[in-house]
Order: sequence, then structure tokens, then C-alpha cells
Amino acid sequence: MLLLLDFDGTITSVDTLDAIVQRYAPAVWDETEAALQAGTMTLNEVIAYQFARVPAGLDELLAFLRAAVVIRPGLPELVAMCRERFIDPVVVSSGFLQLIEPLLRDVGIALPVIAHSARFAATGATVTFLDRPACVVCGEPCKRVAIPSLAHGRQVAYVGDGWSDRCGAKVADLAFARASLAAHLREEGVSFVPFEDMHDVRAGIERYLSVA
Ligand SMILES: [Mg+2]
Ligand SMILES: [Zn+2]
Repeated sequence: MLLLLDFDGTITSVDTLDAIVQRYAPAVWDETEAALQAGTMTLNEVIAYQFARVPAGLDELLAFLRAAVVIRPGLPELVAMCRERFIDPVVVSSGFLQLIEPLLRDVGIALPVIAHSARFAATGATVTFLDRPACVVCGEPCKRVAIPSLAHGRQVAYVGDGWSDRCGAKVADLAFARASLAAHLREEGVSFVPFEDMHDVRAGIERYLSVA
């Protein structure tokens, strides 16, 4: 089994990108959130636009996040269960490697991370997006596109909370959702397991494997 984990709002208590933009460019956050919901900007356009307007270096942003963000309980136990059961956990994020890897390292977790890249600076950040073709379902280079080459035919469990998880969660064999992803899947009639921490995810996977 492949276990795909969203990072922001899923592994973490709060979305690191939202927290940064709300702190460093609050007016931009309101503007782009409306554009995303209205469909006038894609997620990647929103991210590039927002972070070009965040005037802070990497060290400052990491210090801000270390004070603002909590890693949800149960991640070490989830990773240990994956090792025992030969489940392959991978973090798939619409955020930035430069922020995710240090925050995971802080709690002693080393996982493969697939995410965008950013060079942060006092003049605003430059974002380099993953090179991914457009998804046939949503039309964006979404996380769904990355799944076949990671899964190699294995079952897929997906854990997420938000906009960028919609497509991926729908193709997974087992979806875990909270927050707006849970609301969206409920609306679309897609079944999922609700979670609030990684203990819930570990228990849900064990339950799934015991009946499968
Ligand atoms: Mg998220
Ligand atoms: Zn998609």
C-alpha cells in the first residue's frame, strides 16, 4: 500500500502557506482566496502571486512557523506502523520543500516529500512548481497526476484536508479527510474516514487492512 499524506493542515495543525500569507500579506490572502473559489485563478497561480508578495527570508519564515505550527499527534506511530506493514508513506504537498523538510526534521521524521520549491527573499519569493502534466479530471497539474507512478499498482490511502486533495482523495482506495476536504467529499457522496490526528489514520489503516 502507498500512503499519501498532504502536509498543510493534515500533518500540521494549520496550513503553513495560509499562515505565512495571512501574516505577511493579509490583503493578498483575501483577494486570492476569492479568486480561487470563483475559479478565476488556479491554485498554482494563487501560490505564485501570494508568495511574490511575502517579503521574508527562509530563516524568518521557519522561525515564524515553528512558533505557529503544531505537528498533529501520532505521526511517529503512523510511520512505525507503515514500516511494520510494508506501507510506503510519501508526503505530497502543494507547499514548499524548504519549509516542510525542516519542520519534519524538528520532530525526528524523515519521509520522502514531493512538493514545490521556493526561494524566499526580502523582495518576495520565487516559486518553482513541480513539472507535472494537467490532470484529465480537474484540468490542473494536481496531485492525482502523481499517483500512478508512485503507486505501481498498489492500493492507495490518501490523507488530506483541503482544496489540493480533492482529486487525489477521490481516486484513492481509502481516503481520510478533515475540514473542507471532508465537506467536499460528503457533498460529492465519496466515502471517507474522518480524522483529527495521525492516531486516527493509523487505526483506520489497520482496520481497513484487517477486513480487506
Ligand atoms: Mg492541506
Ligand atoms: Zn485533478
